[in-house]
Amino acid sequence: MSTVPLVDLKASYARHRDAIDAAMREVIDNTRFIQGREVAEFEAAFAAFCGTKHAVGVASGTAALHLTLYALGVGPGDAVAVPSHTFIATAEPVTWLGATPRFVEIDPATGGMDPAALKAVAGEVKVIMPVHIHGQPVDLAAIAEIAEDAGVPLVEDAAQAHGADYTRGDGTVVRAGGYGVAGCFSFYPGKNLGAFGDAGAITTNDDDLAARLRMLRDHGRTTKYEHQVVGYAERLDTLQAAVLGAKLPTVDEDNQRRRELAAAYRKRLAGVGDLTVLAQPPGRRGVFHHFVVRTAHRDALLRHLKEAGVGAGIHYPVPLHLQPAYAGLGYRRGDLPATEAFAAECLSLPIYPELTGEQLDRVVIEVEGYFERV
Ligand SMILES: *Cc1c(COP(=O)(O)O)cnc(C)c1O
Repeated sequence: MSTVPLVDLKASYARHRDAIDAAMREVIDNTRFIQGREVAEFEAAFAAFCGTKHAVGVASGTAALHLTLYALGVGPGDAVAVPSHTFIATAEPVTWLGATPRFVEIDPATGGMDPAALKAVAGEVKVIMPVHIHGQPVDLAAIAEIAEDAGVPLVEDAAQAHGADYTRGDGTVVRAGGYGVAGCFSFYPGKNLGAFGDAGAITTNDDDLAARLRMLRDHGRTTKYEHQVVGYAERLDTLQAAVLGAKLPTVDEDNQRRRELAAAYRKRLAGVGDLTVLAQPPGRRGVFHHFVVRTAHRDALLRHLKEAGVGAGIHYPVPLHLQPAYAGLGYRRGDLPATEAFAAECLSLPIYPELTGEQLDRVVIEVEGYFERV
């Protein structure tokens, strides 16, 4: 029987092949490998996509987070509010800067940072950095209000949320990365907009912050031979910018397809075993980077799916506050019960724009098949 992968990068390349090959060929022919014009072109196009004034291309999503926190002055002795239910790259740059991640509990319905839990620590942190985890926007208005009251900048880790949107109380729609002081994006190959290697970007409406980030990513340069500050080597590679520029035009339709697939999963999986799906609160339109279900039978269901040739994954099995890397912070099991329960029960099913109706059927049938036997 055919297999259904968790993600299918080959299917994505097949759809975009002509545009990608032509764009890469152009860079290679002109040998503009560093800061070629494709970088600035992609930055302008991505800023327009996000509805922000600026997008600053960088070498990875991790670099986006690192440079943003550095530019905002995070340093030794500071704390930064982040979720524990996320990829470790959300917290690592905090630690590199000599600051401490302050892990905030999640809303179990969505997996995103819980505003009520944030409120309790907002007065003690230098930056508030929620994650639009699984591509689902967090409650930005509630979190922004807390950030404002505390006088602390809000940074969005939007690494999984290209094109997701949030409707404000006044009806205006803001895309992920456009609500906070800055939005940090990853273009890791499997993300909703993926490069052919590592790449990332920072979105912002702040001219000074954008200028500072442009300096920091490129050795603190103001001109070829003048270095205003000690910076980093975290530029967006021109070949990656060319790939991203070729793929950006279809991201909205790709996200729409992901939403249709998610709606089909929700309908077909309702009432199957003890499965629950994540909430989609009104005014917060997600882009389904992952399609996550929860079940007390997670590990056995995952084994069953693997044996049946259905790709499934766990995002993420061990929360950051319980990772060996963060043992030194002194958190214990039980400190963040909603986060820990989520990590124990979550399972990601295959979702990507090229997933066919037949493949979705296969996944649903195998999930149903598992629960018929328990
Ligand atoms: C992928 C990801 C990152 C890191 O991005 P890279 O491009 O892999 O460095 C950061 N945060 C979250 C939530 C991510 O999913």
